[in-house]
Amino acid sequence: MKELILVIEDNEQNMYLIRFLLEKNGYRVTGALSAAEGINIFPSVKPDAVLLDIQLPDIDGYTVAKKLREMKESQNVPIIAVTSYAMPGDREKALECGCTGYIEKPINPDTFIDQLRAYLDGKSDRSDLS
Ligand code: MN
Repeated sequence: MKELILVIEDNEQNMYLIRFLLEKNGYRVTGALSAAEGINIFPSVKPDAVLLDIQLPDIDGYTVAKKLREMKESQNVPIIAVTSYAMPGDREKALECGCTGYIEKPINPDTFIDQLRAYLDGKSDRSDLS
């Protein structure tokens, strides 16, 4: 059985697209429509990876990443920022806050699964991690 992905994303159209692509490719999906929900369910969901929207209405994704990294359950879990921000500084901020890497919005359906797969297989954009 393929991995379970926790998707934290407040935009329902984006959530629909991400869930569609993941399920079409055999992944299991748990969705959270707010940062608080994602943080709360993370320890019990025990996902194999987190896809984390940065622009969330309640708590921004950078803070979500930090809070997830404070949990022991997140130790070996890739957290991938999904962000429309194209500025390199914002990518670095996501990495500094504990994200493993990032995928840019708008989601490219042709490359999205391969990008996620690389992180599931151990890719990291963080220079301080091996
Ligand atoms: Mn959003």
